[in-house]
Formats: sequence, structure tokens, C-alpha cells
Amino acid sequence: MRIRYHHPIPNFYKVENPINPLNSISETLLNDLDEFILNQNFIGVSYSKLSDEFKKEWNIDWDNILILKYKMSDDILKMNPSKEKTVLEDKEFQDFGRKTFEVADFLRQNNFKADLIHPLDDSVSLRAIAMQSMDCVITRSNMCMFKEALNVGFFMIKTSIENLPYKNENDMQWVSDFCSTCGICIDRCPEKAFDEDGKFIRKLCTAHSQGCSKCVLICPFYKQGYEKVKKRYDRKQKR
Ligand code: SF4
Ligand code: SF4
Repeated sequence: MRIRYHHPIPNFYKVENPINPLNSISETLLNDLDEFILNQNFIGVSYSKLSDEFKKEWNIDWDNILILKYKMSDDILKMNPSKEKTVLEDKEFQDFGRKTFEVADFLRQNNFKADLIHPLDDSVSLRAIAMQSMDCVITRSNMCMFKEALNVGFFMIKTSIENLPYKNENDMQWVSDFCSTCGICIDRCPEKAFDEDGKFIRKLCTAHSQGCSKCVLICPFYKQGYEKVKKRYDRKQKR
């Protein structure tokens, strides 16, 4: 079990799963679902379709996943590592966890099976599931980055819906090349949580135990945003 400051989230379902769940969603209802998710203050949704190999590797029997993304508060991120900061980060996590149950209830009300994948369950890697969405990358500082922001947290719902708009190509792969020429996080990490080849050393990182966010705050993706960094990268490639 990894060190974490997040507390388990109790169940907040108000609606039971349907006995005969549907497995196809109409475009109109998908738009309504997106709107419902955004109204809960999530910044977006991604979708992962898990392959047979993936399910076998992780010993799971579900495959359609909604990833609800929220932007971690800038004000909290900018605080120095402290107990108070970890409490606030946990509160934010609990708030969005509760909203995720509301999204699951929305799906259940519309006759789809929907269950939150517990974020503290170590038997499956949520990051590995996130990567299956083809909508994110792992940065050098070990952040799971989506285009919306670097400081994104997420919750996941497994569902009976088979026809979600899954992506089959990841257009963010260039980020690893950019990171290999940047390295600011390696230079500025107060815990020296990177080895001599620049590989992240999880056990030395104090993000989860004390709330360190230094590498997020100094990262170009945080300071300028994904699109600006991408434009700069593309310009450089053309020279
Ligand atoms: S600081 Fe640089 S190397 Fe580190 S994650 Fe951000 S872009 Fe990548
Ligand atoms: S969160 Fe802090 S300790 Fe962890 S890699 Fe980033 S700067 Fe280093």
C-alpha cells in the first residue's frame, strides 16, 4: 500500500443499478451526460476501452470506463507542503468523489450499469486505465497529464455502455520528447526524487505524504498550458 493522505470515500449512491442494463447510448443522451458532468465542475471526460490483454493482466472483467477529470485547485497547489495542505487536498478529492457518485446515479437512472472504481483500490492501476484512453501522457515528473491541465485529478466509473467515443490514437506522445530536453523538474526537486538517468523515484517523492507540488508549479505545461508548449515545440521542430 502506498503512502497516501486521501481517506476512503463512502458510498453515496442513491439509485440502484438496473436489472437489465442498456449497453448503447444515443448521441443526445451522451451530450446530456457531458453537460451533467461539466455541471458538477469537472473539466472534462475521457473514455477508456480496456482490451482483453489489459483485463487479463489486471484480472478484471469490465471494460468501458468514463474518466471524470477535475482541476486541482491552484490556490492549494501553491501552498507549501504541510498538514493543512494535505487536508485541503483530501477535502477537494472527497468533494469530487461525491460528485462522481452523482454521475453514476445519472447513468443508473438512464438504465446503464455504473459503478465507481474505487480510487484507493491498489488491485488495479487507475493510471494504466487512464493511459488506455489515448488522451493523456505521463510526464517526467510522473504526472498523468491531460490536455486540459497538468494539475488534473480524476475519478473513474465502469459502465455497461459499449459505444462511448473512444480514441484509438494518442497525439500527446511528443511530450516525452519535450520532457527529455527540459528537465526543470529534475533540477528543482527538493527531494532529489530522480535517478542519474532522470527516472522518477517514487519512494523519494513527498507529493502524496506531504503535499509537495514543486515540480507541477515550475513545469512549462503548468505555467503556459498544453497548447502553448505544443506550439513552441512544433515551431522548434520546423527549424
Ligand atoms: S518540468 Fe519539464 S521535464 Fe519536468 S515534467 Fe515538466 S516539461 Fe517535463
Ligand atoms: S512532487 Fe516534489 S518531491 Fe515529488 S518529484 Fe515533484 S518536486 Fe520532487
